[in-house]
Amino acid sequence: MTTLAESPMTNPFANTKCGGCTALCCSYFALEIDTPDEPEDFENLRWYIIHEDVQIFVDDGDWYLQINRKCSWLDGNKCGNYENRPQICRDYSDTLCDLDGPQSDHTFRNIEELEAYRDTWVAEFEEKKRKKAKKARKKNGKRRKHGR
Ligand code: SF4
Ligand code: SF4
Repeated sequence: MTTLAESPMTNPFANTKCGGCTALCCSYFALEIDTPDEPEDFENLRWYIIHEDVQIFVDDGDWYLQINRKCSWLDGNKCGNYENRPQICRDYSDTLCDLDGPQSDHTFRNIEELEAYRDTWVAEFEEKKRKKAKKARKKNGKRRKHGR
């Protein structure tokens, strides 16, 4: 039941997008990590993902490690230290935010999801390598033919 103190009439925040949200954007932080270039690069990613409260996502081709721990300044669903909030919080807009669903190209929540992606990635990587080697062999053959 909504009391008078909580009603949208007396609490304009309740009528905003953030007012109807459980502070999803304050419930994690994410750091950019190296984009895998070689099959071995997935080893570190496998190590990250087997930890609790961690996931990995790819956004616009950039890879991120996400730590699903809420901010210690969160007070209920509101910022408890609004005046001192870090710049990244000031810059974050609710126009297209976590409440609107995942914005990433890929999200890996567990090692199975990551390894399934890795297997496809490695197969494509090996195929590209094979094609490149074939092209190089062809080029060398032509050079020998022409005595260069
Ligand atoms: S910016 Fe989006 S995710 Fe963050 S509290 Fe507001 S509605 Fe929720
Ligand atoms: S400082 Fe405030 S706005 Fe920033 S993450 Fe923490 S609770 Fe959210």
